[in-house]
Amino acid sequence: MAYVIAEPCIGTKDTACVDACPVDCIHPKKDSEKYATEEMLYIDPVECIDCGACVPVCPVAAIFTLEDLPEKWQHFAEINASYAVGGKFQQDKFQKRVAQGAHVEQEVAPR
Ligand code: SF4
Repeated sequence: MAYVIAEPCIGTKDTACVDACPVDCIHPKKDSEKYATEEMLYIDPVECIDCGACVPVCPVAAIFTLEDLPEKWQHFAEINASYAVGGKFQQDKFQKRVAQGAHVEQEVAPR
């Protein structure tokens, strides 16, 4: 599993979750150069230990377990993971996988 940060974080980037996370797996941090240029924060799905500490501190309720992630925000699982590996979310590839029957089945809204 792993927790996922979804759309409500865009433009919010509160970082209370960063302070709450015991394993430091939410990025970018406020003192990082990338904080200014990224539109939201992301959880590294490999490092996340599923403790849930970030959920109650988020002022915009942007953090979900994978199971509870609303259908319309399923693509944020991929967006969070892409950031962690240093890549960018590639909408084309994502939609191709969806078309091939990957776990996410709803249409991805243009970003
Ligand atoms: Fe960090 Fe726990 Fe939230 Fe995972 S669930 S991002 S480990 S605070």
